[in-house]
Amino acid sequence: MSELFVRTLRDDPADAEVPSHRWLVRAGYIRRAAPGIYSWLPLGYKVLRNVERIVREEMDAIGAQEVHLPALLPREPYDATGRWTDYGPNIFRLKDRKGGDYLLGPTHEEMFTLLVKDLYSSYKDLPLSLYQIQTKYRDEARPRAGLLRGREFVMKDSYSFDIDDIGLEKSYQAHRDAYVKIFNRLGFEYVIVHATSGAMGGSASEEFLAVAENGEDTFVASAGGYAANVEAVHVAAPDPLPYEDAPAAHVHDTPDTPTIQTLVDHANAHVARDDRPWTAADTLKNVLVMVRKVDGSREPLAIAVPGDREVDLKRLAAQLEPDEAEAFTEEDFVDHPSLAKGYIGPGVLGADNASGIRYLADPRVVTGTRWVTGADTPGRHVFDLVCGRDFTPDGVLDVAEIKEGDPAPDGSGPLRLARGIEMGHIFQLGRKYAEALGCKVLDSNGKLVTVTMGSYGVGVSRAVAAVAEGTSDEKGLCWPRELAPYDVQILATGKGEAVLNAATDLARELDDAGVSVLLDDRKASPGVKFADAEILGMPTSVVVGRGLADGVVELRDRATGASENIPLEDAVGRIVAVVHGRPVLD
Ligand code: ATP
Ligand code: MG
Repeated sequence: MSELFVRTLRDDPADAEVPSHRWLVRAGYIRRAAPGIYSWLPLGYKVLRNVERIVREEMDAIGAQEVHLPALLPREPYDATGRWTDYGPNIFRLKDRKGGDYLLGPTHEEMFTLLVKDLYSSYKDLPLSLYQIQTKYRDEARPRAGLLRGREFVMKDSYSFDIDDIGLEKSYQAHRDAYVKIFNRLGFEYVIVHATSGAMGGSASEEFLAVAENGEDTFVASAGGYAANVEAVHVAAPDPLPYEDAPAAHVHDTPDTPTIQTLVDHANAHVARDDRPWTAADTLKNVLVMVRKVDGSREPLAIAVPGDREVDLKRLAAQLEPDEAEAFTEEDFVDHPSLAKGYIGPGVLGADNASGIRYLADPRVVTGTRWVTGADTPGRHVFDLVCGRDFTPDGVLDVAEIKEGDPAPDGSGPLRLARGIEMGHIFQLGRKYAEALGCKVLDSNGKLVTVTMGSYGVGVSRAVAAVAEGTSDEKGLCWPRELAPYDVQILATGKGEAVLNAATDLARELDDAGVSVLLDDRKASPGVKFADAEILGMPTSVVVGRGLADGVVELRDRATGASENIPLEDAVGRIVAVVHGRPVLD
C-alpha cells in the first residue's frame, strides 16, 4: 500500500448517482477523464482483467476463437449495411488527413463479416465463432452512472457463422449456455429476458439483465416463466367485438376536463352508462409526437392508447428505432390547425383525414371497441365512438406502458415488473449482414449460399460496475472472490518492527502459497487502515497488530463482517483454505 498507485477519497464525487460509481471512484479504482470516459487505475484494472478472464475462459470453452480487430474503422462497410446513417449521432465519426471518413467502432458485425468473407469459401469451414474483447465507442446521449453507461467501454463481442438455420440455432444455444456460466461466475442475480433487436436487425434475441433497482431497463416476468424486457412485450390483440347494439356516437360538452380522471368523473355525472360506470380504460387518449427520421426530417405521428395508460417512451423508442421520437411542440400545433389541443380525436387523425397525420393505435383498439375520445372541437368529447364503424386507425403501434398485473402474452399468468441492468445481449442476426456484404460460401452441392450469423455481446466494463452495484455497502466495495484485485489484504497495525516484520513474513508466505496479497505497510493509524480496507473491499483481511504478543492475528471477512483471532502459526493454512472456497469462518 505504501507504493500502490491509489488514493482513497473521503467524499463522494459530485456526479455520482449510484453506489458503484461512488465507490469505484472513492476507492481509487477508476478516474473520470471526460463525460462517460474513464481511466483504469491499478486496482480497477485488475478487476476488469478478472472479468475478462472469466469471459475468455467460457468463450474458449465453447470453441470460440479470440481475435482483435481495430477500433478505428473505415466508413464503407457501415455504409453497405446502412448503419453509418442508422446509428445517427451515436457514433463517433472522424476524418483522416486525406478527407476519408472513419468511425470508432460501436460494435463490429460488419468487420467480422468481411473478415470471414475474405478467408472462407466453403461449408466445410463452418461453423465458426470468433470473439474479441475490445474497446467500443458510442456517443451516448446520456452517459451516466460511471462505468454503467460510458461513451468508451469494454465489450466482449462474438459472432457465429453457420451454413443454415439449424447451425445458427446451435451456435446461439452454445453462446447462451456460456453466458449462463459467465454470469453465474460473476455472481450477481440476473434474468434472461426476450429482447428487441433494434438497430442490430435480425430475429430472436435475448438479454441478460442484472437485477438492480438502479437499472435503466424494466423487465416483466410471470410466475409461469415468461420474461421480457418491456420493450419487447407484444400485447395480444383481443378478438373483435360485435357492435350492432352499440348506440350511435354522441357528442357532449365536457368543460373543465383537462385530465382523464376529470373526464371520467364528468362522464359518469352527465353522460352515465346504464350498465356500469365509465372508467379511464373506456377513454381513448391521442398522443402526438414528432418522429425524427435518420435523414433528419420530421414527421408527425398520432398514437391512440387507452386512457388508463401512458405511452411508454422506451417502448416507443424501441418501436421507432432507428428513427427517434421528439416532443410535438407549440409550433407544430400551429402548423396543424385541425388539431384541437386537449380534444384531439380520430375525426381528424389519420392519413385520409383533415390533419393528414398518420394515426396508429394500441393493439387493444380492435373492431367493435367503444370509446370516449376528443371530438376535435374545444370543450367537447364524443362517446360510443366505435372502432371499425366510426373510425379506423392507419395501423397498430404497441407502445402503451405495461402495468403490474397485466396478463403475460403467452397466458402464463400476471406480470410483475422489476428493473435491471443489461449485461449481455445475444442475437440471431440471420443473413442481414452477410447479405449486405456478400459473405457467401459453397454448400455441399457446390451452390453459393449466404451464411447466417449470430452476434453476442457482454458488457465487460459494465460488469465491473454491476458487480460493485450489487455487492457494495455503506462502507465501500466488497468483491466476490473471483473478481477481487487481491485475495487478502494484510493490515500491519501498531508500532514497532515486530509487527511490520510479522506482517511482511505472512505476506511472503501467502504469496508463496499462491495467495495474492495487498500489504498495508503504511505509516498510518489503525483507524485509517481499517477504513481503507473496507473501502477497497478485498474479501478477506488479516490484522497483524496487538494480538501478536499473544501469537494471534485477526481474520476478517469483508462481506459478513465476521472476525476471529487465529494463531499466527496456523494463519497460512487457514487463509489458503478460505481463499480456496472453504467456509469463511467456522
Ligand atoms: P443499452 O440498451 O444499455 O444501450 P445496447 O442494447 O445498445 O445497450 P448492445 O449493442 O446489445 O447494447 O451491446 C452489448 C452489451 O454491451 C450490452 O449488453 C451492455 O452490457 C454493453 N454496453 C452497451 N452500451 C454500453 C455503454 N454505453 N456502456 C457500457 N456498456 C455498454
Ligand atoms: Mg442490447
